[in-house]
Amino acid sequence: MHFAEPVTTAVTTKDYHQGNLTPMMRQYFDVKAERPDIVLLMRVGDFYEAYGEDAELLSRELEITLTGRDDKLAGMRIPMAGVPYHALERYAARLIGKGFKVAICDQVEDPKQAKGLVKRRVTRVITPGTVVEDSMLDAKSNNYLVAAVTGETIPSGVGIVDVSTGEFLVTELPKSTTTDSVLDEIIRLQPTECLLFPGMDELADAIRSVTRATVTFHASSDIRQTSRQALLRHFGTQSLIGFGCDNMTSGLDAAALVLDYVKQTQLSAVSHIQSLSTYSTDQFMTLDSAARRNLELTHSISDGAKSKSLVSLLDKTVTPMGARMFRGWFDHPLLDLAMIRNRQDGVAALLSSSIVRGDLRECLRQIADLERLMSRTCNGMANARDLVALRRSLEIVPQILAIVRDFSSVSILADCASVIENVPEELCALLNRALMDDPPLMLRDGGLIKVGYNHTLDDLRELRSGGKARISEMEDAERARTGIRNLKIGFNNVFGYYIELPKSAADELPEDYHRKQTTANTERYVTPALKEYELLVLGAHDKIVDLEYQLFGEVRDIVAKRHSGSVLKLAQSIAKLDVIAGLAETALQHRFFRPDVHDGETLSITAGRHPVVESLQSGTSFVPNDTHLDTDASRLHIITGPNSAGKSTYLRQVALIVLLAQIGSYVPADTASVGLVNRIFTRVGAHDDLANGQSTFMVEMSETANILNNATSRSLVILDEVGRGTSTFDGLALAWSVAEHLHEIGAKTLFATHYHHLNDLESRLAGAKNFRVAVKEKGDHIVWMRRIMPGGTDKSYGIQVAKLAGVPDAVLVRARQVLVALESSSKPDKGNTRADFEQLLNQQTKRLQLTLFETEPNPLIEELRTLDLGTLSPIEALNVLYRLQKLAIKPQ
Ligand code: ADP
Repeated sequence: MHFAEPVTTAVTTKDYHQGNLTPMMRQYFDVKAERPDIVLLMRVGDFYEAYGEDAELLSRELEITLTGRDDKLAGMRIPMAGVPYHALERYAARLIGKGFKVAICDQVEDPKQAKGLVKRRVTRVITPGTVVEDSMLDAKSNNYLVAAVTGETIPSGVGIVDVSTGEFLVTELPKSTTTDSVLDEIIRLQPTECLLFPGMDELADAIRSVTRATVTFHASSDIRQTSRQALLRHFGTQSLIGFGCDNMTSGLDAAALVLDYVKQTQLSAVSHIQSLSTYSTDQFMTLDSAARRNLELTHSISDGAKSKSLVSLLDKTVTPMGARMFRGWFDHPLLDLAMIRNRQDGVAALLSSSIVRGDLRECLRQIADLERLMSRTCNGMANARDLVALRRSLEIVPQILAIVRDFSSVSILADCASVIENVPEELCALLNRALMDDPPLMLRDGGLIKVGYNHTLDDLRELRSGGKARISEMEDAERARTGIRNLKIGFNNVFGYYIELPKSAADELPEDYHRKQTTANTERYVTPALKEYELLVLGAHDKIVDLEYQLFGEVRDIVAKRHSGSVLKLAQSIAKLDVIAGLAETALQHRFFRPDVHDGETLSITAGRHPVVESLQSGTSFVPNDTHLDTDASRLHIITGPNSAGKSTYLRQVALIVLLAQIGSYVPADTASVGLVNRIFTRVGAHDDLANGQSTFMVEMSETANILNNATSRSLVILDEVGRGTSTFDGLALAWSVAEHLHEIGAKTLFATHYHHLNDLESRLAGAKNFRVAVKEKGDHIVWMRRIMPGGTDKSYGIQVAKLAGVPDAVLVRARQVLVALESSSKPDKGNTRADFEQLLNQQTKRLQLTLFETEPNPLIEELRTLDLGTLSPIEALNVLYRLQKLAIKPQ
């Protein structure tokens, strides 16, 4: 068994840096001193090693052995840990996953040629927001790096980049906007890393608490003065008008901040970041983090599973770019009618023919992740297999074009076709001419470049393969020179090339023949000319490998410099086709229909369904429900009904139908007429946010406050229980006034509540309507109908539901007694004020306390306990039963 050797750990990097060290250790700690917050891995032989504190960190986080290295000059043993060079990506991925940043320090000269210590420098810094390796990325999500610049008097700027795809975006939020809306935008983007100027601690804490992003303070002091120039320089343009952000300020700072960071970490070209798109948050429906969570867009609330989320159920895309775009559409529901209808037209067209759609999707399935592939190409990290995958994808493109061209009257599809048409044929031709069909993964093993692409390479290969023609030429020449007809040239691994002669012919040979070996019947010779040839042949292998590497690099550069723009546009069009075809497939598989999305204020749904609940149900069929909401007489629906009756499901289904309609999808309803909604607010269920020290009630009230402060008559508000987390009086009072306030705002509101008193609002407020989820009572049991019906209810069925859930009978019996006690108190008359409620509830509570006191011990149970069943006749037993039942029914 191997034990880690004890090491001195009390010494810090700073001590090493200042002390006497051998040259290699000095090299390491000098680099480390420049990047103290980043784990430094330095290439030494076949390992990437870390020393000092980083070695300890590596050992701890990656569970690898911590050893030490004696440093004579320092006179101490320095902690050391390392990972094999070929496993770097795997280990780095684990460190990045834990939120660390990793700097890779490589040898930048050939160790064989180095005089003294090999030169090394940091070639790359890997951070969560800048990874480009496939193994560290989720193919279906973007990997956003986001910079936020806020200030009290300036608009807030947000710059966004996905280094792995080349997407680069910028936006500004208006001056009055609080950091909350910057935070909302960050939540929407779900970045893996956020850049802030040093000092923005409050926002940093908020980001850390609501996202999984690593927060990095990036101090680039003069960025504010130079951001515009930095962007102009990067794009090589004279103004930013073409990108739509010329008049921005903080937006440009944020964009320049991300770009600067990417350049500093990638340390190589970022040429695939070719364009900057400006967007306004007003373009999209706002979905804050509560709405995303409550509607279970990407994760289920109950167990966090992605598989039970809306996005994963409906995502039928077949390419990684399509999957990312699909997710992006969900994150950005539209407010522009024309754009929504444009998407719907695309879905309709591809829905109309299953065969065409099937063919299209089959072609799309064969397309590689062009965005990430192009990012690796531009960063000089793509291997030959990447470019072969690009070529294979390009070979499929004409088939896609042929299919899409048939839809020239559908503008979204026609736009895709025109982008696809513009991919230059020369790119595919170049890749075809240059690259082997099945190249190896490593670029230093040869086997990359096709025969016929480069003459020098062909000659070298001919030479390496023994150059049969050249050998027979030499044989002829030697035969002529010596007059020996059965002279042969051969090769073996020990002596290399030799001239072989029969023993009998060995007398009269030219002077330059030197004997090397004698066999039974032959003598073998070498000549200087043959030796020279041998050197050429043997050197050919290394030369071939070098030349292939160089030629591949050239091809990769050409692709990056000349074609990345058109490939990235192609990737976007492929993604769009994939999403539209996917939505058509979803519509067919889940029976979705085209909604009528309009500028009006009504929301009318017939036979609406919740797609996820429906798909998870086995055995029972989902009961569809209708909805009619407007901003007038039907703007506030008070929905009552027992627990588990289906209220939450109904509420969410309405919100999801609106959301789907505004991303351009078909919807799970027979018909839907959806007036554009600017924001969906939700307050669903209760959950503690203990990590942030917030109780259930605090969370509930924060979410409610957000709704009350921001909802407008264009909003859809889903409230599932308000006021549950506090005492009955407080809760009811709050629920009541929240409902009144929303009614006043005019927001379309669905309010599910167990406070039946809220039914009184129907007669008090012009736009309030009562609904209930119907249940059937069968004796003590209830049967779920799942049907939303007009009218309120005054029954909770809580005890029946508890029975269904398996609560012990003794508890149920007791609960019934308590309930009877409560119900025997008079109900508040309609029209009572909140003060009246308080008084009545006080009386009920007092009565309950009395009842509880009086019913100890319970006479019914006492009598049961003392009965002697052995002596009772059937008629006596019936009498006892009769008496007991009377006792049980009578209010105690
Ligand atoms: P509530 O909010 O009233 O407590 P839920 O909406 O959570 O009830 O519904 C409870 C369960 O009932 C759901 O998990 C689902 O399985 C089922 N359900 C809800 N609505 C329907 C429906 N319309 N048709 C069929 N089953 C439904």
